Amino acid sequence: MKAENTGKTNSKKVSIIGAGAVGSSIAYSIMLKNIATEVVIIDINKDLCDAEALDIRHGISEMGATKVVSGDYSDVKDSDLIIITAGRNRKPDETRLDLAKDNIKIAQSIAEKIKEFYTKGIVLVVSNPVDVITNYMIKWLDLPEGKVFGSGCHLDSSRFTNILSDFLNIPPQNINSMVIGEHGESQVHLWSKVTVNNLPLIQYCKNLDINFSEEQKELIEKRVTGLGAEIIKGKGKTNYGIATCVSHIAQAVLNDKEITASVTVEIDEECEIDSVSMSIPCKISSKGAEKVLLENLTPDECSKLQASALAIKNFLN
Ligand code: NAD
Repeated sequence: MKAENTGKTNSKKVSIIGAGAVGSSIAYSIMLKNIATEVVIIDINKDLCDAEALDIRHGISEMGATKVVSGDYSDVKDSDLIIITAGRNRKPDETRLDLAKDNIKIAQSIAEKIKEFYTKGIVLVVSNPVDVITNYMIKWLDLPEGKVFGSGCHLDSSRFTNILSDFLNIPPQNINSMVIGEHGESQVHLWSKVTVNNLPLIQYCKNLDINFSEEQKELIEKRVTGLGAEIIKGKGKTNYGIATCVSHIAQAVLNDKEITASVTVEIDEECEIDSVSMSIPCKISSKGAEKVLLENLTPDECSKLQASALAIKNFLN
């Protein structure tokens, strides 16, 4: 029996560069969502790559019929989506920006390979520090605006929603929240834009007589920002959360199922910030990422976003 096909999967090809914990979890997640016809995994560690592809491919086909194979850079040709996850991971107590030096070198060699075989498609950067690598990748690949973007704070936004869900004791599906700026220590939690059951958070809390103190907000922000490090301390990596976030983006790109998410794109004049790539709300579709106007941020959110831009810029010079 063939797997039920929930989306328009007419010959959709995805290339994933990096078969580590993140790359292979993304391949697995895309396969389970049944949103691509073929996923090719590429890694300098060919044995690992072959083994991951075989392992993912040999699941029950009713659960997902995507053909997952191991390949090489020539497979980038004709890909609708190219996902970059190669690079080393953070060690405990290391920030994402500490990774910059090693992973920029790896990313540059990958950009050269992509340029050699690129014919079409969207390029999504996941390797950390994702904002810094995306800054460079946009310049190196020189594709039309929005075709190269980074997963940015989509994961942090999902973490923010989940922590708020625990705090308010209501399902995360009823909460809309967003984190912008750096996918890292200086990220900005947009409290002014949080909605619960489609009501502004402030209104929801007032209706139910919930008191949200500044101290509680600070604790929540700290927890959200520190979750990556907390998970790495326990298991040495993070992979499942990012994999679902990336397959959410992949579905929007491959099936033209538009979503709005906080992802890394080049900023021009938002909040008087220019020439840096960082995470802001964007519409994502088969065309790539298109910026959504950042309206009505509070002065505090704006100044935090400027500080976040500066934190990223410091790693670009
Ligand atoms: P990992 O060490 O398990 O895997 C990295 C893989 O990259 C390895 O298999 C390695 O062989 C491969 N690689 C290295 N150089 C390569 C090259 N030139 N070409 C092809 N493959 C190459 O690491 P991981 O846990 O999978 O993490 C991968 C990256 O994703 C890290 O930079 C990590 O920080 C990042 N990450 C990002 C997010 C996010 O939200 N953006 C979340 C989690 C992890």
